[in-house]
Parts: sequence; C-alpha cells; structure tokens
Amino acid sequence: DTELKKEDLQRIIDLMDGFKSSKALFTASKMCVFDLLQSRPGLDAAQVAQEIKASVKGTACLLEACVSLGLLKSKQRACQKPVYENTDLSSRFLLSDAPSSLRGYIQHCNDTVWPLFSHLESAVREGANQHEKAFGKTSKDMFQDTFYNSQEAKLRFMNAMHSIAKVTGRAVATAFDLSSFKTACDLGGCTGAMAYEFTKAHPGLSVTVFDLPAVVEMSEHFRPLHTDNRVSFVAGDFFKDELPKADLYILARILHDWPDEKVCILLSKIANACTAGCAVLIAETVLDGQTPYSALQSLNMLAQTEGLERTESQYADLLSKYGFGDMRVGYTMNFLDAFIAIKM
Ligand code: SAM
Repeated sequence: DTELKKEDLQRIIDLMDGFKSSKALFTASKMCVFDLLQSRPGLDAAQVAQEIKASVKGTACLLEACVSLGLLKSKQRACQKPVYENTDLSSRFLLSDAPSSLRGYIQHCNDTVWPLFSHLESAVREGANQHEKAFGKTSKDMFQDTFYNSQEAKLRFMNAMHSIAKVTGRAVATAFDLSSFKTACDLGGCTGAMAYEFTKAHPGLSVTVFDLPAVVEMSEHFRPLHTDNRVSFVAGDFFKDELPKADLYILARILHDWPDEKVCILLSKIANACTAGCAVLIAETVLDGQTPYSALQSLNMLAQTEGLERTESQYADLLSKYGFGDMRVGYTMNFLDAFIAIKM
C-alpha cells in the first residue's frame, strides 16, 4: 500500500492548484469577461482581448483556464478558432446584475483577502490580522481605518457584504420559526440586504438596521426596487451607544470579527436590552471540525479581523453567560449557518 493512488495524487494537486483557480476566477471577473460574454456570446479570444483591452495570448490562456474550471464553454467548428460563452454557473453567480451575483464578494477576495493571505504565515505566527503588512496601514479601529478608509474602499466592502447577504439571507431568515417576533434589530446590518430577506420571509416582522454612520449614510444606494417600509436604518456604534429596542437581535457575520472580550461587551448590552422571551439570532459559518469552508473562513478572519469562527458549543458558552438558553443551530448548507438563543 505504498503504491501511489491516482486519486490521492489528484487531491494534492487540486489543493496545490486551488490558488490558481481562485486567481483565474478573480481575474476574469475583474476584467468583466462574464458580463461581456453574456451580452455578446460566441466571441473568439482575439475579440474578447480587444474588448477587455488585453493581449490575445494572455486572454486565450485565461479563457481556456475558465473553460477547464467550468466557468465558460467553448465551441470550435472545423478549421476555425474556438468561440466562448458563459456556463449556467457563471450566468447565475458571476454577472454584475444577476440576482445571486457574487461579483462584489469576488472583488473583495481579489483586492483585500488575496493580499492578506499572502501574509498568512505571519498571521499564524502573530495570531493577528495582516492589514499593516499587506496595505501599510496601522489600524486602531478595524472598520474606520481599514475597510472604510476611503469612499471607494467602503463601497467595495459594502458590495461584498451585500452580495453574500443576498445569496444567504433567505436560508438564514427561514432557519427557524420566527412568527412570535414582531420587531428585530439587525446589529451591523450593513446595506440592509439581510433585513429585506427577513421582512420578505416574515410578513409580521419589522427590522431596524443598526450600523456605523458611515455605512447608514449609503443605505439608499442599496435599497431594492420594491422598497419595504418595514425596514428602517439607525446609525450608531454597537459597543458604545444604546441599542434600539427589539424582540429579536440579529448578528450576521458580526461576532466572527471580534475577540471574546468584545463579543462579551456586545452580548451583555443585548442581554440588558432583552426581556424574557426575546432572542438572539447569530448567522455565521459554524465550525464543525469537518467542512473546509468554515475552517478556511476562520483563517480568513484571522488574516482580516480581530476575531475567528467559533463552534456551536463556543457560541452556547458565550450566550449562556448572559442568561440565554433554549439554543438551536440550523446548518443551512449555504455560506452562513444560523444559531438562535432565547433570553430566559
Ligand atoms: N451583517 C452584515 C452581513 O452579514 O452582511 C454585515 C457584516 S460585516 C462583516 C460587519 C458589519 O458590522 C459592517 O457592516 C460594519 O459596518 C458593522 N460594524 C462594525 N463595527 C460596528 C460598530 N461598532 N457599531 C455598529 N456596526 C458596526
């Protein structure tokens, strides 16, 4: 059994090549290849190169890589050059204006996560994020000094959050029966994408999105076509300011940004605002010791934030300190799982 199994070798090759696949996807997305081939399917490499203002050699190479990854299809008639079109997968997730577009998040992965991951070794040695090495910025306040340090950076971050929240929001909003709750507060609710999914799924629920003033001032930019007057926005700092009153507090991708000390400050404020029967709903990818998605997402948090991902029992321990019980977890098989706890 020292014989090399073909599948094992392939598995290692896939792991070694993962970064090449990611970067090919990011590059094609950034250069608008998928949007172009949606409006003009059937272009050859030279035509694509001209449109995206790139070399023919490089474009042909990138297009073939996308074909091999299932992101494009190519057709070739006898003696002619191959022509390209999108696959169903890229039409669903990679176009700028698709309802389930992940383009905003892909751009964040390329521009922010990729440089941070090139310093992963330092992140592991230091147990700290790598904004200073990757971007030359010292940050006292993670959001103000890094993610929101220019209008462009802020919009890019908000677009990234928006795209994941849109794709995952319904699964989170319907993970539990929430019919007994009339008012919710989405703490760090960003663009409101998650809040709109909650009101869509629960006709009796109103949601207040609470986020930093710099974020709330952009909320109009992300308002859906069919406005929903059950979603409202309040600006503030959830570590310092009074929290809006609600029956249900939503924390979607908030706790994974922060170390336990700061999570405890936030949970104690929420607990003080809650009466018995109120609830906290946490949306995070829950570490389960098996799936690479949550474990790799935890490395992502290490390189990018002050936090990390946590297990179900770590959430349960944190919440029980503040008088929450009757906890349940819903594994959604989407980017985010859902965890609910009731104030006793
Ligand atoms: N909940 C959104 C989602 O899941 O799409 C956004 C998650 S994003 C990782 C973290 C959010 O927390 C950002 O919108 C950020 O502006 C907000 N935030 C960070 N610090 C905050 C603070 N001190 N007070 C209020 N909001 C804060």
